[in-house]
Parts: sequence; C-alpha cells; structure tokens
Amino acid sequence: MSITANINQINASLPEGVTLVTVTKTYPIDVIMEAYQAGERIFGESRPQEMVAKQAAMPKDIMWHQIGSLQTNKVKYIAPFVSLIHSVDSAKLLEVINKEAIKNNRIIDVLFEVYIAEESTKHGWSENELIEYLDLQSLKSLTNIRVRGLMGMATYTYDNEQVRCEFNHLKNLFDNLKNKYFADSFDTLSMGMSGDYKLAAECGSTMVRVGSSIFGSRG
Ligand SMILES: *Cc1c(COP(=O)(O)O)cnc(C)c1O
Repeated sequence: MSITANINQINASLPEGVTLVTVTKTYPIDVIMEAYQAGERIFGESRPQEMVAKQAAMPKDIMWHQIGSLQTNKVKYIAPFVSLIHSVDSAKLLEVINKEAIKNNRIIDVLFEVYIAEESTKHGWSENELIEYLDLQSLKSLTNIRVRGLMGMATYTYDNEQVRCEFNHLKNLFDNLKNKYFADSFDTLSMGMSGDYKLAAECGSTMVRVGSSIFGSRG
C-alpha cells in the first residue's frame, strides 16, 4: 500500500479525539513529503539534529514533536520551534527546557514520560517519583513550561492483555494527576505505536505515534 493509503486507513480507524503523530525519524524528506501531501501536519522525530535539518527544509506549518529520549545538551537545537516534547524523563531536563524556552521567549509544551513497561530499557519516571516531584511544587518556578500530559510505552510483547493492562494503568494515572495537579492544562495522553495504537486508543489514548505502519520498516 502507498503511504497515503496507509495514513488514510490509520486515520479512519482512530476514534474521534485521537491525534496521529506521523513518526518520520530516519525516513528522508522526499518520503515524508508524501505524508505532508496526504494532509499530515504533526511529525515526530527522535534525534534533534535530524529534526532541525528537516524543519529547515520543509513547509513551515508542520508541527514537530520530540518523541525519543532527549539529552539536555541537545535541547537548545529544537527549543526555537518544537511544538511538543513527549519524552521528559527527569527534573534536570525540565529545567533545561525551561531555560531554553525563556531564551526563545516561548512557552514549551511537554509530556512526562512514565515508565509502564516490564523491560528495564525504557526511560521515564516511575509513578512514585513523578508524584513526589509534583508534590515538591518545583514546577511553579518553571515559568515557560506547560505540562500537557503523559507519554508511555508498553512492553514489546504479543500478550495483548499485558499491553492493555499497562495502558489502562497509565490512563488511570493520567486521570488522577489531572484531577490533583493539572485540571487546566492536562489534555494529552500519548500512548500507542504501530503495533499497539488501536489497543491504546481503546484504553483512552489521545495521541498515537506511528511510523513503520505508515512508511514501512526502518530496516
Ligand atoms: C520510533 C518511535 C515510535 C514509532 O514506532 P513505530 O513502531 O515505527 O510506529 C513511537 N514512539 C517512540 C518514542 C519512538 O521512538
């Protein structure tokens, strides 16, 4: 199937209120332009330098999302234009994003990446760490950060019940944190990738990040 057909099929399968982030990392500009022509405007990248190069070369109405783990010394490259950072996994990173946002005279939207999978390789806050951090109220001093919600990645497994359980868990945490700390700004729950976005949407995801089901395997 073509890229356009893949995008149309995925969008048709998503419930209302679930936004598709087209994950363009590693694919060249001529390939991802087809997604742009199909109407997609939210592109997700993992490597800041790659995002910067693509942003400079591509139409300016694309919203660029940082989805992969972000090193503090790379924040400065994307701070002038990034539209959402999904992968905030430490207090230190938040402070750096805030500093760069101030330099650029912007408010930067972020998600807390929460660790929900069994595998120890995935990044993010544990539920307890995050609640402890929020109770310290350190966010109050980060004037140029707006926390929009949470991001999580489920275990890579064919066991759908385990994946569903992890997604439900994140959705519960999202609802609890929204009630307790973020009534106004919390509107984004980023969960679901090529292998599990339909399940994630059933479990309350508002944003899915899909690459290989659109562009084919990264090889
Ligand atoms: C690469 C990546 C995706 C997309 O993965 P696919 O399996 O290609 O859909 C989603 N989220 C994150 C954080 C990624 O790094």
